[in-house]
Amino acid sequence: MRNIVIACTVVLVFFAGPSVAIAPGVAAHPSAKPPQGYRIRTVVLDAGHGGKDRGCAGATAREAQIALKTVLELGHLIEQNMPDVKVVYTRKTDVFVELADRAGIANKHNADLFISLHCNSGPAVAYGTEVWTMGPHKTEANLALAKRENAVILQEDDYKERYNGFDPRSPQSHILFSLFQSAYMVNSLRFAQHVDSEFKNRVQRHSRGVKQAGFLVLWKTAMPSVLIELGFLTNRNEEQYLNDKSGQSYMASGIYRAFRTYRNELEGADEG
Ligand SMILES: [Zn+2]
Repeated sequence: MRNIVIACTVVLVFFAGPSVAIAPGVAAHPSAKPPQGYRIRTVVLDAGHGGKDRGCAGATAREAQIALKTVLELGHLIEQNMPDVKVVYTRKTDVFVELADRAGIANKHNADLFISLHCNSGPAVAYGTEVWTMGPHKTEANLALAKRENAVILQEDDYKERYNGFDPRSPQSHILFSLFQSAYMVNSLRFAQHVDSEFKNRVQRHSRGVKQAGFLVLWKTAMPSVLIELGFLTNRNEEQYLNDKSGQSYMASGIYRAFRTYRNELEGADEG
């Protein structure tokens, strides 16, 4: 046991090395109450997968394609209704983007929020939405999802160097890595809960809840960040819903309303 504790400490230091950006001032406030006059200026929208990585599959639909279409709908809503918020896309076409580059794009733009869209895969009876933030997984199923979403780095060159020796096939790698505590946990969870609530109450999707696991794509984002599983492509009804333009619009509008609520909360924090 003692050896394991020591090993954890060493690896955590390794993972949470100087490349993990923690904004000055933010980490010191566990309540994550934003500073006075805080404004959300930039949101990064990340369509999962793309190019040679098509993600998970339904009967006809592919994850990369549905994520992109829904991201573009969401971006359009924000651009139309919030002209003072800059929308940055990690991809707007069917191209491959490495996981580290997705976080890199968000950091380069000093984004205030990072939203990554995906679709799920499982038994045919499984359906529903999930909203994920970075954190330790509580079940083997949660670990399995993080492993699937992280496995894309196997398609990247030099992934061992780029991800500090992280092995997406190793449960132990995920356990140690997911213990990394994000300075942005509070606001990530806050936004995640708004998204979950919109999906349940307004879009009327079945919610599988807000969950935590270690996702590489969220790891190095220096801002609140969530990964949204829009639904299961392996469920016939859900695949049809998500593969349809109106379904994509409903999901995008749910996320948009969650973003609007989140933005109002954070920007209104200096009024009281
Ligand atoms: Zn995915």
